[in-house]
Amino acid sequence: MKIAVCVKQIPDPNTPYALDPETHFVQRPQDQILDDTDRYGVEVGLQLAEATEGTVTLVSMCPAGNLQGIRQALAMGAHKAVIVSDPALQGSDALVTAKVLAAVLRRAQPDLVIAGTESTDGYTGVVPQQLAELLGLPSLTFARKVVGGDGKIRIERLTATGYEVVEAPLPALLSVTSGAVEPRYPTFKGIMAAKTKPVEQPAAADLGFGPDSVGRAGSAQEIVGVRAAPERGAGRKVVDEGEAHLEIVRLLEQVKVI
Ligand SMILES: Cc1cc2nc3c(=O)[nH]c(=O)nc-3n(C[C@H](O)[C@H](O)[C@H](O)COP(=O)(O)OP(=O)(O)OC[C@H]3O[C@@H](n4cnc5c(N)ncnc54)[C@H](O)[C@@H]3O)c2cc1C
Repeated sequence: MKIAVCVKQIPDPNTPYALDPETHFVQRPQDQILDDTDRYGVEVGLQLAEATEGTVTLVSMCPAGNLQGIRQALAMGAHKAVIVSDPALQGSDALVTAKVLAAVLRRAQPDLVIAGTESTDGYTGVVPQQLAELLGLPSLTFARKVVGGDGKIRIERLTATGYEVVEAPLPALLSVTSGAVEPRYPTFKGIMAAKTKPVEQPAAADLGFGPDSVGRAGSAQEIVGVRAAPERGAGRKVVDEGEAHLEIVRLLEQVKVI
């Protein structure tokens, strides 16, 4: 099976990073890591590829930096990567991101496209569905278990109360949840091999995008403001002198919990 896995490089969540004060875009460092969400997609892709003698191609739109995050996924075992890294893409919203990824995927013609359900930095949770629509593929979302082969894919789709079994013919798109599999750790051999695996880096123009169709110019959404979440205030201690329960009920009514 020919598999494409969409992966994002993101700033390390453990390291504070800044927003550009004017555009509100994340100022992305050279060192970025593979989004933890996408380690699950890579693992599902590798397991399906191993079962079907297939290949896994990573697809990403991101400032390349030193490619640390992409190399992490290559070290897990992915075969190659296509990274669209172009200053013209700065300011692209989710739909433009999906259009650029779709252009790469149209060229690659995979049997299966895999994505995470929601990224850790942007978390709009819409790119997989937008990709499926743009590519005209059936979209199997929130997969917690995946079985593929014989021209079809079957998943257990996580719901609030359990799961549904959903099946689609290939080609298809799949979004996986973080409980789907246990991502493997790269071996030393894998890390060394990742250094020489092919990483293609087309520009937006190579994929047919003019300057007006990507970046801020091509995006319908604009971030017009960013606010820090209010800090939590100190709690209030109610001393029980026999009537504390009444005071607690009054406080709960005040905040409309009861
Ligand atoms: C107005 C606006 C301007 C923005 N400008 C910038 C900017 O200048 N620079 C910037 O880095 N971000 C920018 N962003 C954020 C960027 O558009 C989002 O990160 C991107 O649209 C994907 O959204 P998400 O991360 O919320 O995806 P989600 O839908 O939450 O991601 C789900 C899954 O889709 C796949 N996926 C998502 N994005 C990518 C990707 N880029 N490559 C490969 N796979 C992917 C992954 O598998 C991921 O797990 C901007 C957003 C807006 C709204």
